[in-house]
Amino acid sequence: MTAMVIIGAGQAAGQTAASLRQGGYKDEIVILGDEAHPPYQRPPLSKQYLSGEHGLERVYLRPEKFYADQSIDLRTGVTVSSINRTQKTVMLDDSQIIHYDKLLIATGSRPRKLNIEGSDLKGIHYLRTIADVDGIREAMKSAKSVCIVGGGYIGLEVASVAVVAGLEVNVLEMEDRILQRVTTSRMSEFYHSLHSNRGVKIHVNTACSGFSGVDGKVAEVICGASAINADLVIVGIGIIPNVELARDAGIDCGNGILVNDHCQTSDPDIYAAGDCTNHPNPILNRRLRLESVPNAMDQARTAAANMLGGDKIYAAVPWFWSDQYELKLQMVGFSMDGETEVLRGDKDTNQFAVFYLHEGAVVAVDAVNSPREFMVAKQLYGKQVNAADLSNPEFELKSLVGK
Ligand code: FAD
Ligand code: NAP
Repeated sequence: MTAMVIIGAGQAAGQTAASLRQGGYKDEIVILGDEAHPPYQRPPLSKQYLSGEHGLERVYLRPEKFYADQSIDLRTGVTVSSINRTQKTVMLDDSQIIHYDKLLIATGSRPRKLNIEGSDLKGIHYLRTIADVDGIREAMKSAKSVCIVGGGYIGLEVASVAVVAGLEVNVLEMEDRILQRVTTSRMSEFYHSLHSNRGVKIHVNTACSGFSGVDGKVAEVICGASAINADLVIVGIGIIPNVELARDAGIDCGNGILVNDHCQTSDPDIYAAGDCTNHPNPILNRRLRLESVPNAMDQARTAAANMLGGDKIYAAVPWFWSDQYELKLQMVGFSMDGETEVLRGDKDTNQFAVFYLHEGAVVAVDAVNSPREFMVAKQLYGKQVNAADLSNPEFELKSLVGK
């Protein structure tokens, strides 16, 4: 009897366990997760679960019964405190020892925290887990004004839910534009106008320097010499990959746990998948640390195949999405890799795509409410195209695929 042990019970962990069974593995699978829930999807947390549109059953990756049916030993509410590579064991925080033959580290990431004056006041929230959102939803019931720190994905998705719920919403972004980390000025301007038109007040070039409160509860967000009233604050200023367990066990880490194209760490019996990893991408020809569901799921499938003795390589063009109001943004590749932007469609209709070309080849697309352009762009990656064809709405994009 052999044992596959998985640390973390998130998106990558749940998929790895399922893929191990699908791959024919019959022996023991143990998942060790520190949250109270079975593996779940985080995207709805800042969208439909926050708005109340989806319940928990739509958030869980698979029904709870799946794990028992598949003889997967899912242990929630347990924290792994160390890995002993010589003994091939992991230790839990209650000192229990669990043996592994192959180990997967899928510890994800945690929110970057503000450490400024007043940051421990009540009413200041971060958003990573179901428990975090339950707390925010409760606070939203009595809140009138919310201040969101960070104009990234979390900040803007939460802003769209909060303003629709009738709250006064301010967003603070310390860069000179929102979504600066993930897209171009043109897209940032589009999303800035979208939010402004819906009533969200966006303050760029604005970092929060502290909070002041009344009776231990936040009342104002301080930004240098000015202050913004807020009875609820939500901070979304990025994440830190959870690499400490791996690093303390002597596994090579850099910006993330370093894995090869097989999702294998510097220890051949230990694999890693998801937000915590840093992997080589043979298509983009560089190492990446990605924070996305497609990455977590694809790495999980790759790791599972290789834990079973396979020879599967993880090679995919990265893609992302974000839902704000009734708009779905779907992105392929990294827009900063292109030097030429080609617009297809009309921004005023909220349905358009921007293609990014490098030396005439497609290297990225940002598609708003344009699933067809997104699907085609995934297949056009790296292909030479004629910019005039891309921008011509009469031109059938599909005809470029397979050329
Ligand atoms: P996680 O899902 O974070 O799972 C890791 C788990 O391991 C966590 O439960 C953690 O608590 C646990 N853990 C850590 N250390 C230990 C330990 N020592 N012992 C036991 N357990 C441990 N991506 C998209 O592509 N599209 C989206 O629209 C999108 N929306 C998002 C919205 C929100 C609010 C958030 C927070 C993220 C969103 N993401 C989105 C990102 C996406 O959810 C992550 O990239 C994905 O969850 C990564 O999966 P993972 O398995 O690596 O990590
Ligand atoms: P993010 O995308 O990194 O955005 C954080 C933003 O906040 C950045 O623009 C950052 O600027 C800014 N910022 C940092 N410190 C600040 C400060 N003190 N005051 C004001 N602004 C500040 O991270 P996130 O939105 O927090 O999301 C967290 C994780 O969830 C990420 O992994 C993200 O990919 C994931 N997520 C994904 C989606 C999606 O894919 N749709 C949705 C929600 C969440 P700098 O870049 O200069 O630091």
